[in-house]
Amino acid sequence: MSNPLLDFSGLPHFAEIHVEYITPAMNALLKENRALLEQIRNDPSTPTWQNFVQPVVDANERLSRAWGQVSHLNAVMNNPQLREAYNENLPLITQFYAELSQDLKLFEKFKQLRNSAEFDCLTDARKKIVDDELRDFRLGGAELSVEKKKRFLEIQEELSKLSSKFNDNLLDATNAYNLYIDDKEALKGIPDDVLQMAQEQAVTEGKTGWKFTLHMPSYLPLMQYADNRELREKIYRAYVTRASELETELKTERDNMPIINNILKLRQEASILLGYSNYAEVSLATKMATSPQQVLDFLKQLADKARPHAEKDLRELREFAAKKLNLSDLQAWDLAYASEKLREERYAFSDQEVKQYFPENKVLEGMFHLVESLYGILITKAPTERNIQTWHADVKFFDIHNASGQLIGQFYLDLYARPSKRGGAWMDDAITRRRIENKANNQSAIQIPVAYLTCNFSAPVKANHHARPALFTHAEVIVLFHEFGHGLHHLLTQVEDLSVSGINGVEWDAVELPSQFMENFCWEWSVLQGMTQHVESGQSLPRTLFDKMLKAKNFQSGMQMLRQIEFALFDMLIHCDFKPDAGKTVLHLLDEVRKEIAVIIPPDFNRFPNSFAHIFAGGYAAGYYSYKWAEVLSADAYSLFEETQIDGAVNAATGSKFIKEILAVGGSRPAMESFVAFRGREPELQALLRHNGIVTA
Ligand SMILES: [Zn+2]
Repeated sequence: MSNPLLDFSGLPHFAEIHVEYITPAMNALLKENRALLEQIRNDPSTPTWQNFVQPVVDANERLSRAWGQVSHLNAVMNNPQLREAYNENLPLITQFYAELSQDLKLFEKFKQLRNSAEFDCLTDARKKIVDDELRDFRLGGAELSVEKKKRFLEIQEELSKLSSKFNDNLLDATNAYNLYIDDKEALKGIPDDVLQMAQEQAVTEGKTGWKFTLHMPSYLPLMQYADNRELREKIYRAYVTRASELETELKTERDNMPIINNILKLRQEASILLGYSNYAEVSLATKMATSPQQVLDFLKQLADKARPHAEKDLRELREFAAKKLNLSDLQAWDLAYASEKLREERYAFSDQEVKQYFPENKVLEGMFHLVESLYGILITKAPTERNIQTWHADVKFFDIHNASGQLIGQFYLDLYARPSKRGGAWMDDAITRRRIENKANNQSAIQIPVAYLTCNFSAPVKANHHARPALFTHAEVIVLFHEFGHGLHHLLTQVEDLSVSGINGVEWDAVELPSQFMENFCWEWSVLQGMTQHVESGQSLPRTLFDKMLKAKNFQSGMQMLRQIEFALFDMLIHCDFKPDAGKTVLHLLDEVRKEIAVIIPPDFNRFPNSFAHIFAGGYAAGYYSYKWAEVLSADAYSLFEETQIDGAVNAATGSKFIKEILAVGGSRPAMESFVAFRGREPELQALLRHNGIVTA
């Protein structure tokens, strides 16, 4: 039997993919791709799109489609055999792509193509692909002299070790702390399910009482609910000194500050080698924001708008804490606690209550109906007779047709949590839209895009022997809309070249626009009415409950926004003109940022940078601002829908404009151009501030 991972004629054959097929398929594809690259490298003819770019794209597509199926299965149907096969092949795949990004002969060919007469005749999408390739080669150090390149690669290797060490230290520090409590009286206020978990953790260690740790599910409820102030202070102190010189279990080899200083120095050195003046510029070279100054201005402007609101949030919290909780000197370890009490007093409703109004069938129906009327498409579930192969009985499969009845996209929907599935929610591409030329008959056809939409919601429960539908919390509904937004970006693209089709080639700080955009509809009364139906009474969501949800949404939004801005500004400044050896320390810089931005100054012993993994061990260095940046884009894009509503209903003309200028174009042109084409101007902050209740008009 042939290997199903090597059949690219249609949808993946999930029912036929067995673990034994994985390694042979990957070996075959890697071998085939290496042979092709070798042939291309040695081809003396002038590089053209047809003899050079297209064959490389085709070969890489086969590899990524096959490997995509394997890594998808590894994420949603994990088991020991599959994990072993995955881990065995992962380094080989990583190695292949690393070689590709360092391949000087390919770089040379891209340069030749860029300077050839053909380049001027390419479509704009293809021009952008060539330019993106050249940019990525340069950022990978391809243009450096032999000596400089050696140093550049050394730095990259060292940085990757330091980041990994940063994470290890943080994890070790988190795990090293255990707090055992024997006296139940000391745990007043903490919810029963949290106490039960704490008790079980103690029992498994043969101890009595309750065990608390610095992991979120233990730490967070303790900070929010424990009436015992000393207990909160104790665990807060432990949490904010993790992986620092102040850690209670003082282990100097676990201090992340020397690592931070090293990372900053090496990033700076690598940036200079590449011809930039700092790492922030390197980071922004692939993003929508054009300069560090633009990002700094953006953040400061947002902070100025949010500050009065944040001050009001804090004033209210202080008054409440003094009057109702007898906390007249609100400390860092009181904030979550007092906030939770204030929230309870103001907006008395539970997630459980809201959940009864969101049965799965009604939510999906409502979401599909919304995008159908917005974008003039039709979404239908594939009938069972079609025997679409999936990886689990709970997975559903859908077709999307356009107004003239043409099939334009398909997606798998895998909603429920199960032990074999990785946590979180995500969209991934199974097949990407592109035009495929058939050389034999000189004709071409469009390859239909296919997406995986994966969530981790609770599955339907069987009550009294008849199945009830799955019920979603409002937060889960928002997650579903978010991922569906990514899905539509992938599926409704009109681009015909793979590298910039759908979400491919879209700037990092703009890629969340279509997903966050969709979230807005979950706060739209006209939309929610149509997608809610109480699981027992059949009633749609009452307006009074919706109003409470809306108020709770913006609870302390001013303080939250300032906190995000504080992190983002610190991240940007530390990668701009900061030199760890020049006298000012990382903590000094953070102090300055806080003095300028924050309404709450944390205590002196707070070592926040030592656990800021996003920027020291993740991909967010000089990019943390992206969260707020993309929120501004999505809110501002959404505001055009608000402005053009007809009798409270969505406007299909605005919908088709959104498809045409944002979703359809994918990464084929800069995100700013797409935004301006849709909105008629550059992004403005106003809509985001209004959606967060920070300004009213
Ligand atoms: Zn997202």
